[in-house]
Amino acid sequence: MITGRLRNTEYVIDLQALQDNIRAQRTALPTGSKILAVVKANAYGHGLLAVSQAALRAGATGMCVAILDEALELRDSGVEAMTLVLGITPVEEANVAAEAGVSLTVGSVDWLEQYHRLAQQFTWQKPLKVHLGIDSGMGRIGFTDLDEFHRAVKMVEQNPEFEFEGVFTHFATADSADDQYFEKQVHRWQEFIGSLDQLPPYVHMANSATGLWHRDQITANTVRMGISMYGYNPSGRELKANLPLKPIGTLKTTICFVKQLKAGRSVSYGATYTAAKDEWLATLPIGYADGYPRSLTGFKVLVDGHYCDIAGRVCMDQMMVRLPKYYPVGTPVVLMGKSGNLAITAEDLADKVGTINYEILTNISNRVHRVYH
Ligand code: PLP
Repeated sequence: MITGRLRNTEYVIDLQALQDNIRAQRTALPTGSKILAVVKANAYGHGLLAVSQAALRAGATGMCVAILDEALELRDSGVEAMTLVLGITPVEEANVAAEAGVSLTVGSVDWLEQYHRLAQQFTWQKPLKVHLGIDSGMGRIGFTDLDEFHRAVKMVEQNPEFEFEGVFTHFATADSADDQYFEKQVHRWQEFIGSLDQLPPYVHMANSATGLWHRDQITANTVRMGISMYGYNPSGRELKANLPLKPIGTLKTTICFVKQLKAGRSVSYGATYTAAKDEWLATLPIGYADGYPRSLTGFKVLVDGHYCDIAGRVCMDQMMVRLPKYYPVGTPVVLMGKSGNLAITAEDLADKVGTINYEILTNISNRVHRVYH
């Protein structure tokens, strides 16, 4: 993937704000809580390594990623902190995790038995760190049956190729105003946890939303902190965040071309926009291949503290905006973030596209140069 360092489109990331977000939440959590920074999908688009290092400096104990490759990228970059893969790893690749000291999620006895058989051929002795995932209602991965869970616990406790490092669950509705389903999941989680004679070192049930809105129900010693660490509200607009969260990213560019568009002239593919009168039109070097969705056609950007409408369709690499007056090439433009007293948030973009802030963030493509301060 080629990153555009020689154009002015940037995703500017404020690592101090990230650390402030972590610290603000940490002080509100039960004393002694450990934090695992969720840095999957290139740290929700903000850069795996830079975010992980900043999170560790702010007191996180380790990281959660989605796939083994992300964990290995951290190890290759010299990050040795505890790293858990949240998804299911193919059993035939799991020895790579053991060797790298990466922890894996396991959700079935079958997977453990397969690894147990494979491990008989290994010539080395590093145990695989295992977190048993409990499906308390998310319906995605993990143990649903208590007996099978107990068989899994026995296997990881009794076989030397395993190290029983953690147990966790994930909530489907912790970000919702209606907490009925959440309560059911908590109950199920407690049934599983309460049935263990001894708990492993990491017990985790809270994502960002649980940490924000269900703090008093956390029966665990570790929180998996994702979107709130990046400064965004996990519920979008449904629930108000009760802690100060600062969005850490600003997507910006500069005008690369400017012209006067004569009345009656049209703009972009499909010629869907036609100037009603003479107007100033700017071209921006960013498009849907950068993760600025084509469905934002008709939306707005910020130029010099003013909202400016997007004129015509967003193209793959460029888009046009109507200016209130002439602005020269090089004028800064904010597509997500603050300009003057105005802001365009990830939620604003998500609402327009019909998605959630998570998807807006993770879609910002690797072609956009990340800049840190
Ligand atoms: N835990 C698991 C298992 C997840 O899949 C995710 C994200 O999708 C998280 C934690 C972090 O969630 P959030 O970003 O809402 O904090």
